[in-house]
Amino acid sequence: MYPFSYTTAENTREALDAGRRGGRYIAGGTTLVDLMRETVERPRTLVDISALPLREIVVTRHGGLRIGALVRMSEAAAHSGVRALYPVVSQALELSASAQLRNMATIGGNIMQRTRCTYFRDVTANCNKREPGSGCAALEGFNRTHAILGTSENCVATHPSDVAVAFSALAATVHLLGPDGQRTVPFTDFLLRPGNTPNREQAIRQGELISAVEIPPLPRPLKSGYLKVRDRQSYEFALTSAAVALHIRGGRIQEAKVAAGGVGTVPWKLPAVERHLIGERPSASLWAAAAERAADGARPLEHNRFKVELVKRTVERQLRVVGGTK
Ligand code: SF4
Repeated sequence: MYPFSYTTAENTREALDAGRRGGRYIAGGTTLVDLMRETVERPRTLVDISALPLREIVVTRHGGLRIGALVRMSEAAAHSGVRALYPVVSQALELSASAQLRNMATIGGNIMQRTRCTYFRDVTANCNKREPGSGCAALEGFNRTHAILGTSENCVATHPSDVAVAFSALAATVHLLGPDGQRTVPFTDFLLRPGNTPNREQAIRQGELISAVEIPPLPRPLKSGYLKVRDRQSYEFALTSAAVALHIRGGRIQEAKVAAGGVGTVPWKLPAVERHLIGERPSASLWAAAAERAADGARPLEHNRFKVELVKRTVERQLRVVGGTK
């Protein structure tokens, strides 16, 4: 470790003031403290925002959901409104991390978490995300778990969150508080692809604070669910995953929301798959044909070519689970 100062914010104004002065927000601390121990992160000031009133889950008008940034993962997963309206969200949360971590980690922290690329966490390895301009050890290294979509020559790391995949599929928005007031950012714009600046991972400004994630209302009935494929059945990150929500009425798919995880540098929304489904009658052949588009544009690396086929099969299987086979 190294020296740093720690302060608590009693209210939003105190938090924003401290953030404006360069303080780093912390709540559950399940990612940041690890990274500080490994000296990957070296914030000089931590601002504990646990006391802020951002722990509510509200069912919005017409059946959307607003989840406060400080809601624990386990609280969100167990919430009756989340389970009833968006099972894909509660399932993604329940398949994340461990029970202990889910009891500590918050929704805001979950979407702000940093990559699990082993080279990023090894301070002796070259990593453009940790140290811009130093290179990317994963490109020529062991890149089995890395991304095949949204990569750049500077970084090929995946985003590790499961619930972010569900938020991306459902076209959620991120609510931010900052020195200049409030603003909202579409979830699909909030997490940034690496491009030439892999060290910049979120569309958040200095001193801003996530206040909530909001899922818009979607037509009912809506079936949804999350499938995670990984090397072992618990406490493991996704090799591939699929978040699917379908609104089927009159025997046809009226609305389709689909995203994949474990394959992109950000949660990977799949508009081509969605377009293939809308207006069609559910069938096994439809699921297979739509899922064929799940790896469009993929650029696999030496050790992760298997993800191209695996993500198609993951999406196909979850379409079948959610939509049925008839
Ligand atoms: Fe760093 Fe990204 Fe390369 Fe991993 S993939 S070593 S995070 S630059």
